[in-house]
Amino acid sequence: MLDKLRIVLIGTSHPGNIGGTARAMHNMGLADLALVAPRCEVYGAESHARASGADALVSNAKVYATLEEAVGDCTFVVGASARVRHLPWPMLTPRALGERLPGECAPEAAQAALVFGREDSGMTNGELQRCHAHVHIPTNPDFSSLNLAAAVQVLAYECRLAALGADDAADTPFGVEWDNPPASHDDLERFFAHLEQTLTEIDFHDPDNPRQLMARLRRLFMRSHIDSMEMNILRGILGAVNKQSRALARQESHDGNG
Ligand code: SAH
Repeated sequence: MLDKLRIVLIGTSHPGNIGGTARAMHNMGLADLALVAPRCEVYGAESHARASGADALVSNAKVYATLEEAVGDCTFVVGASARVRHLPWPMLTPRALGERLPGECAPEAAQAALVFGREDSGMTNGELQRCHAHVHIPTNPDFSSLNLAAAVQVLAYECRLAALGADDAADTPFGVEWDNPPASHDDLERFFAHLEQTLTEIDFHDPDNPRQLMARLRRLFMRSHIDSMEMNILRGILGAVNKQSRALARQESHDGNG
């Protein structure tokens, strides 16, 4: 299970936090570290010094330009945030996150990611809306934000505890063996782009006055944990809607010309 869990750090600005994260991960038996658009030197002396023995994780850390690339293959993505957001998202405690992981990691094609924000500004709403759920470490409300590597340590520890206690034959996310593999983050993002384009085409969605429509639809679909067959059906429905609306548009312009 722990081999299917990636730690993703967005826009880290202190190399010490990269080293500290590597050390926390290695202590807890995690190895897959991904860095999205880091704002500091990654492979230098300072990150290696703080890694103290977990150097290999720093050397093997992969750097990506965007969050999408870092989690494209992931079937379960959880964002760690110190702040409550305006549009509430399904929320997990660190313990509940650990309990969910064996099931989420059970399918053959499963890949999970825990995403952490910037030291100064955390994660944007757009980044958090790409996650299936949010996890919040229940800290002192008057002083809620942990050091980045410390937050990684707390969550990695809960994941390790869960892995140690997990039954080998863990169920899938829905408590039974599922018939289709989960959709990946890439599949979901292609679907959301297609959905937005279709809703615009049929005049349901106005990109100039978006309100919270796409965020709410994202939340709905992320909550339902779509599998790959369901994804194909939804894309097929959108394709059929596109075909009809384009035929109608052609018909109208034809009638208008005639
Ligand atoms: N000042 C930032 C917090 C940055 S702390 C803000 O206002 O959002 C850096 C990262 O550590 C956060 O983005 C989050 O991923 C993680 N983190 C810190 N405290 C946390 C907490 N209490 N619960 C969950 N994640 C936390």
